[in-house]
Amino acid sequence: MFKRSFSQHSSTTSIFMKLISDFMKPHRGLGSCSFFTSRAASYLQNACEATFDSERSEDEYADVEWDKLSFGLVETDYMYIMKCSQDDEFSHGHLNKYGNIELSPSAGVLNYAQGLFEGMKAYRKVNGNGFLIFRPEENARRMQMGSDRMCMPSPSVEQFVHAVKQTVLANKRWVPPAGKGALYVRPLLMGSGPVLGLAPASEYMFLVYAAPVGNYFKEGLAPINLVIQEENHRSTPGGTGAVKTIANYSPVLKAQMQAKKKGFTDVLFVDSVENKYLEEASCCNIFIRKNNVISTPITGGTILQGITRGSIIEIARELGYQVEERLVSVEDLIDADEVFCTGTAVVVAPVNSITYKGQRYKYNCGEDVVSRKLYRSLTDIQMGLVEDKKGWTVQID
Ligand SMILES: *Cc1c(COP(=O)(O)O)cnc(C)c1O
Repeated sequence: MFKRSFSQHSSTTSIFMKLISDFMKPHRGLGSCSFFTSRAASYLQNACEATFDSERSEDEYADVEWDKLSFGLVETDYMYIMKCSQDDEFSHGHLNKYGNIELSPSAGVLNYAQGLFEGMKAYRKVNGNGFLIFRPEENARRMQMGSDRMCMPSPSVEQFVHAVKQTVLANKRWVPPAGKGALYVRPLLMGSGPVLGLAPASEYMFLVYAAPVGNYFKEGLAPINLVIQEENHRSTPGGTGAVKTIANYSPVLKAQMQAKKKGFTDVLFVDSVENKYLEEASCCNIFIRKNNVISTPITGGTILQGITRGSIIEIARELGYQVEERLVSVEDLIDADEVFCTGTAVVVAPVNSITYKGQRYKYNCGEDVVSRKLYRSLTDIQMGLVEDKKGWTVQID
């Protein structure tokens, strides 16, 4: 952060900054803040930050080409960290400078994938007054559910939402201008303590970082092409498919890479028992529409219960569609009028084609598709363009 800002300062300030920056360099392990234990050092740091703040106007933006944003990592200024031991509760989290964290080689998360993640977006309000996040309590509750499955202590809903708000505010210059994207917020919960034999870790870390993002798929808002994956399954009955555990995601990479190599956007997984009921894509839920009926696979423990999925079900019902959560077979899919995917990252993505056993099935993707209406209704609420009658959004300012 210090280095990035050199050019904005007078040469005297720059030299001063360079001194401090060099002084800090070897110690950037766990966020540079933690190093500043002596009073003098902390005085220097505070003086430094004060310099930044006074020179930076309230609505200054980070140096980002907002029109070129994709869904990639852009490092921001701060992250939030809170720790606790195995039988304790989380307390006293705080913001740190964004940077590498230090972990024991035998940390539970590194050896046994004892970890969870969440994902949410903060939008800048059109009138420029503050930011909106969407149903953060739902993410907090999902993390609590997951932490139970993964034998980890979890932050309370209040702690989770507080940490997310703090992270957004501390990185507010990285929230894209209205209409250009969002600040993607990524909470992590991990077994950070050392462990050798398979067992829960002795210490846990809750960490929240953020990055500005544009569209998830390289297609942008254009319809996507999926391929049904029959050899690999992302989830099994009794497994962890319904939990946002980090353990579920790298096993998906191989199928995803193969699909991408063949020109598909993503894979669509089917159930591991009968190989015929739709589950979801690698990071989003799936819906099909036939006439006035919208159907989505029922979440029976093998599918991630998306917050976008739940919101779209409610919105679609209000718009007059009949929505069914049920077993959705590949035949139902082939017979559908329209198909779309939902998730925080992808929002509502229309599906152009599905490929199954080498056969390609095309779907209506015109201006008149229902998924467009749903996309609009949802994002209008998320971005604060319409009144939020459901109380789904949380304002941060
Ligand atoms: C995160 C995720 C989703 C979408 O969940 P949202 O709460 O809508 O963001 C769907 N499927 C998988 C596998 C996911 O990891």
